[in-house]
Amino acid sequence: MEIVVENIITYLVAFIVVILIFYFYLKHQSAKNKITKSKIDNAVKFGFHEPVSLHPVIDTDKCIGVGACVTACPEEDIIGMIDGQAHVINASRCVGHGACFHACPVGAITLCIGTEQRGVDLPHVSQEYETNIPGLFIAGELGGMGLIKNAVEQGKLAMNNLSRRIKLAKETEYDVIIVGAGPAGIAATLAAVKNNLRYLTLEQDSLGGTVYNFPRAKIVMTSPMELPIYGKVNLRETSKSDLINLWQSVLKKNQINIREFEKVESIEKKGENYFEVKSNKGTYTSKGIILAIGRRGSPRKLNVPGEEKEKVSYRLLEPELIKNKNILVVGGGDAAIESALLLCDNNKVTLSYRSESFSRLKPKNFENINEAIQNKKVNVIFNSKVKEIFDDKVSLQLSTTPELITFNNDLVYIFAGGLLPTDFLQKVGVKITKKYGDAILKHSD
Ligand SMILES: Cc1cc2nc3c(=O)[nH]c(=O)nc-3n(C[C@H](O)[C@H](O)[C@H](O)COP(=O)(O)OP(=O)(O)OC[C@H]3O[C@@H](n4cnc5c(N)ncnc54)[C@H](O)[C@@H]3O)c2cc1C
Repeated sequence: MEIVVENIITYLVAFIVVILIFYFYLKHQSAKNKITKSKIDNAVKFGFHEPVSLHPVIDTDKCIGVGACVTACPEEDIIGMIDGQAHVINASRCVGHGACFHACPVGAITLCIGTEQRGVDLPHVSQEYETNIPGLFIAGELGGMGLIKNAVEQGKLAMNNLSRRIKLAKETEYDVIIVGAGPAGIAATLAAVKNNLRYLTLEQDSLGGTVYNFPRAKIVMTSPMELPIYGKVNLRETSKSDLINLWQSVLKKNQINIREFEKVESIEKKGENYFEVKSNKGTYTSKGIILAIGRRGSPRKLNVPGEEKEKVSYRLLEPELIKNKNILVVGGGDAAIESALLLCDNNKVTLSYRSESFSRLKPKNFENINEAIQNKKVNVIFNSKVKEIFDDKVSLQLSTTPELITFNNDLVYIFAGGLLPTDFLQKVGVKITKKYGDAILKHSD
């Protein structure tokens, strides 16, 4: 009898333990579901749920809910789980790693570009990366495929193809002009040297492209790649500075020059087979062109007097080194808010924004800037535009009154968005097509 009772108690305890485990598992899952749902709500509210370029599309009929895609994605909150199925959260933040696509054991993920409603402009390129303009090639993210490894690969291949093509062209100052020095432009430059071509590489900003603008602490995820002249780069996880140092050292060691801070303004095909390239510093001719200008565009300028001064910048790289300055930040997007917040502890920060309130901000930024305004750490002047930038002052025009506000100023940071490369491509004459949700990476059915 005693044994029977003991057994019943043991079974009962085991049963209760199982029930409790199950209860806490469901509770945990339900909390996780709630978190993901609220992240999606916020993404919808602040405009990040809609993809702008590359993004994963999940086939919910196939998804078995193992969550491998969430674990594999190196970026944060692109995908999350709800009720045992993967859901896209911040599609606009996807940079196209494709890790979710490769991790999914049942092929439920397709990597697409654009959506049915929102097309993405992509240039026409042949398998050799040549556009409709003979001799003008495109490499890197501008062609639609993100990631450092792809950019390096395409820069190299495009240059090798162009090298074979230009032998018959007219004599010019250069064999090839490479526009842009992100990973694609750097690889194309190295391949030009390897092919004994007379090259000129022009970069409107600093060497490194989008990578140069990564936050200092960002972990850069990549895969092994072949860099012309250097050989195999065996990296998977690295830092921005290690990657840029690697590129700089290869260029230096081989005495390869890239002209930074020179922006290409126009490219014109002259006659049958040569190009004239105009930059903000000169005019050059070449037999071929590699366009490696990425998809992030050029910073939009305000076109106000004084904007050319050295104290004006379009990005903030080392905020921790800036102290005791009077700073004007211009703009109302995340980049402007994040910069103002990074600078406000050690400086006097004024933020000028042309609208009457903030919209489309990351929730955390919205919260933090309101707190900083309340604590008088950032002085925000809504409905204002920069009128003129002086050496030690700046003046703003309010839309509500005719008077100008003028105050002391040491540094100006402008975050007024970017000019997309589409206009530039159209001016050059490159044929463009809108892609409405076309699959870039797809499992065969
Ligand atoms: C937040 C973020 C995180 C990312 N993380 C990763 C990651 O971890 N791993 C990864 O593999 N990829 C990552 N990527 C993607 C990667 O950075 C890009 O795919 C890659 O940099 C594309 O290289 P690119 O050379 O084609 O273009 P870009 O790197 O964009 O370089 C283009 C260059 O052209 C220049 N340029 C443009 N117009 C002109 C002009 N008119 N005249 C002269 N120069 C011009 C620009 O100034 C720029 O330097 C990330 C991207 C972002 C935005």
